[in-house]
Formats: sequence, C-alpha cells, structure tokens
Amino acid sequence: MSKRIVIVGGDGAGMSAASQAKRRDPSLVITAFEKGPVVSYSACSIPYYVGNVAPSIQELIARTPEEFRSLGIGVRTGHEVMALDLPRQRVAVQGDGRIFWEDYDELVLATGAVPIVPPWPGVGAAGIFRSKLWRMATGSAGTSRRILPARRSWSGAAILDWKWPKTCAIGASRPL
Ligand SMILES: Cc1cc2nc3c(=O)[nH]c(=O)nc-3n(C[C@H](O)[C@H](O)[C@H](O)COP(=O)(O)OP(=O)(O)OC[C@H]3O[C@@H](n4cnc5c(N)ncnc54)[C@H](O)[C@@H]3O)c2cc1C
Repeated sequence: MSKRIVIVGGDGAGMSAASQAKRRDPSLVITAFEKGPVVSYSACSIPYYVGNVAPSIQELIARTPEEFRSLGIGVRTGHEVMALDLPRQRVAVQGDGRIFWEDYDELVLATGAVPIVPPWPGVGAAGIFRSKLWRMATGSAGTSRRILPARRSWSGAAILDWKWPKTCAIGASRPL
C-alpha cells in the first residue's frame, strides 16, 4: 500500500512540503487539510492588497487546490484538524458538516503561528486589525482597505510592519 502523508495547514510550509514530497516519491498519497478557503497564498503580500497596490486578492494565490490536485496532491479547504491521535496515527477532521478520522503514515504539522495580542485596554476596539491570515485580509483587513484613505497607524517596527505604511501610501492614490 502507498504511504499516506497528511498535512495540516495549506499555506507556504504545508504545500511546499507536499510538493517536495510528491516530487521525490510520486507514489505517495498526500492529503493537505486547510481550515481556510484557499491554499498557498502569500501572507507576505496581504499589505499590498490592503494597501491597494495589488488590486485583486486573487493575485495573492500562488497555486489553487485544482492545480495541486492535477499534480496528484489532495487538498481539502474548509477542513480543520481538531485533534491528533498519535498512537493510532490518525487525525480528527471537521469539514463538510461532519467530523471524521483520517489515517496517516507520516504527519506534517504546518499550522503556522498566531499573533500575540497584549491584554491592553481597548485592544479589541473596532478599527484595530491584526495582519495575519487570509480571512483577516478578506475580512477585517479587507474592511480596512475599503476605508482607504482614512488615517491609519501601526504598532511594531520590524520589516513586516514597515510594509504597511509603505503600501498604503502608494495605494491611497489609486482607485479601489
Ligand atoms: C503581513 C505579513 C507580511 C509578511 N511579509 C513577509 C516577507 O516579506 N518575507 C517573508 O519571508 N515572510 C513574510 N511574512 C511571513 C510569511 O508569510 C510566513 O512566514 C509564512 O506565511 C509562514 O507560512 P506557514 O505555512 O508556516 O504558516 P501560515 O502562513 O501561518 O499558514 C498556516 C496555515 O495553517 C492553517 N491551519 C492552522 N491550523 C489549522 C488546523 N488545525 N487545521 C487546518 N488548517 C490549519 C491556517 O489556516 C494557515 O493557512 C509575512 C507575514 C505577514 C502576516
């Protein structure tokens, strides 16, 4: 029987692992579970979308689930891995309105990281966004895009944080 690889998380790390593994051994049966609606998107480019430099959010997608399927890699978007059963080598998956077990021989955890939110007063107020995942770009940060060119401020001074004011300054002069 072919070896089964289950991948949890369908962005850069997960889908790179899937592609690399399939290239090395085409007989592998690979299934990637992604809880969001898309895979292989460029989180790095979210500031370009929100800042109105990239006009369409579709430009952020490197490869669609269909493209991965054509390479023989199974992709299940809208499917969240809820639990690991390590002794029995299976994961519990929620998707399509049900919960089911998926068996694996090898497991890749590529769930990324989540931002730490300091417990400051007012940190959950309307108009405060966290830049991270696709749903944030299309949801809260997408809202932020629509209110261009309203006044914005950022916290943090790492290289990623500087992308925000830069892209918004460029995009503010362009039509939405
Ligand atoms: C605004 C921004 C700008 C950036 N700019 C740069 C840059 O210029 N250069 C650079 O090198 N890097 C940049 N990065 C960092 C880069 O995007 C990340 O390092 C990269 O996305 C990490 O990829 P990943 O696959 O490890 O994790 P993620 O991109 O976080 O993907 C993890 C995926 O796992 C899914 N997932 C999580 N839990 C589950 C579960 N239980 N079941 C199913 N799916 C699950 C999530 O929905 C997500 O799609 C930037 C990041 C951001 C947010």
